Amino acid sequence: MTVKINTAEQAASLIDKYDTFLFDCDGVIWVGNELLPSVKETIELLQSKNKKLIFVSNNSTKSRIEYIEKLLKLNINNIKLEQIINSAYSTAIYINEVLKLNKDKKIWVLGQNGITSELQNFGYETLTLDDIKDKELTMENINNLIDLNVGCVVVGLDFQLTYLKLCITLQYLLNKDIPFIATNIDSTFPFKNTKLPGAGSVVEIASFSSNRKPDAICGKPNPGMMDSILSHHKLNKDKTIMVGDRLNTDMKFGSVNDIDTLLVLTGIELESTVSNGHPDVTYYADKLGDLYALGSK
Ligand code: PLP
Ligand code: CA
Repeated sequence: MTVKINTAEQAASLIDKYDTFLFDCDGVIWVGNELLPSVKETIELLQSKNKKLIFVSNNSTKSRIEYIEKLLKLNINNIKLEQIINSAYSTAIYINEVLKLNKDKKIWVLGQNGITSELQNFGYETLTLDDIKDKELTMENINNLIDLNVGCVVVGLDFQLTYLKLCITLQYLLNKDIPFIATNIDSTFPFKNTKLPGAGSVVEIASFSSNRKPDAICGKPNPGMMDSILSHHKLNKDKTIMVGDRLNTDMKFGSVNDIDTLLVLTGIELESTVSNGHPDVTYYADKLGDLYALGSK
């Protein structure tokens, strides 16, 4: 049964029922650079009730510190670094704790600074095209652009994606001993009033050309994300709820982990996809801010 939250009583009993709220960010807390209505009030209400709040985002382009800065800019205060888990961070945790990649190996990153800074925080040396710009950056010179010390490849969203970067990535992936790690595989992400290709679209190119599937995918709904959350937080699953705007990432992440879910309609999905019920969705609401706004009427 999927229940719509549309009265003050339903909002209050949902808040009472859970002690930990996992929030997807884009489409739930903000859209682009705009805070969604009544989100600040909802977060402050939950903070005043001593609820544990954890922000769980598939966006690997920002570091966790940049997330805190973004929240502060949007006037959301009192959030600590351990409350932020994004796919750049879960990728770094995976490589450090599961792969246990030796620190003398370099990591080739097809992606943004969010990924390189989280890996560097764990003591890894990262390699991107920027780091080899003293070399002749041409396809003819491809063999000289390969660093024999690379022991892992990370692919995420890269806003400066070029053919040469794809060529270098492929050279590493042709070596089957080098693990292929994807930050997340969102096909698209919302941008202004449209969608843009997401990390999954970049991962597909690397995957297709190398004829390899990623050895691990670190974003929602994959298990790496839950492992990263559990590395900082103890969760009582019966008292935890995942709030998100996307069925195949957020709602799936909740259901595969036996955690209740709340779908909000401020992002990707339409009411018609859940109004007749959906197996991965426990509740849905027009917006996260309704948890506060319904009660303040
Ligand atoms: N990837 C990128 C590059 C994004 O910009 C976004 C949202 O802005 C996402 C993924 C999805 O992030 P979230 O899981 O917070 O919705
Ligand atoms: Ca989202």
